[in-house]
Order: sequence, then structure tokens, then C-alpha cells
Amino acid sequence: MCPHTPTCPEAAAPDREAARTIICHPEQGWSLLCNGIVIFEDTGELLPGGHAIGPHRPTDLPLPSHAAIHADTPDTPAA
Ligand SMILES: [Zn+2]
Repeated sequence: MCPHTPTCPEAAAPDREAARTIICHPEQGWSLLCNGIVIFEDTGELLPGGHAIGPHRPTDLPLPSHAAIHADTPDTPAA
């Protein structure tokens, strides 16, 4: 499925993330590589066989603090 020469690493290769991006949807947070891997912006991956790999690299984006939001927000404001 890779149209490049030389061919990109296969989905099972250790350097699979070096394959080229053929579809990119940054607004949705994912990209499709030419070896069939869908890679997400949190570095998680979905392999062609359906096997998922969790995020395995730190990202530059700060994580939203859900815990702080829930801790400080009352369920129903007095009306
Ligand atoms: Zn390729």
C-alpha cells in the first residue's frame, strides 16, 4: 500500500512511525500513514490489524485538568 520509493517501514517494523503521512486531520487529532497506521496526536496508534497502541511519548501540549474542574464546581448553582 506504500507508493514510495524506497518503501516506508511496514506497520510491524520498529520504525513504523517513520512512514509518510498520506492523510492528515489535525483538527480531529489523527493522521494516516502510508503503511496503514493511524497515529493520534497523543502518540497513540491504531495498527492495520485493529491492534491499538497507547500513547507512548510525552506531548508538548499541557493536559487539561479535569480533576480541578470537578473539585471546584458545584453541581447546581443556587437560583
Ligand atoms: Zn510510503
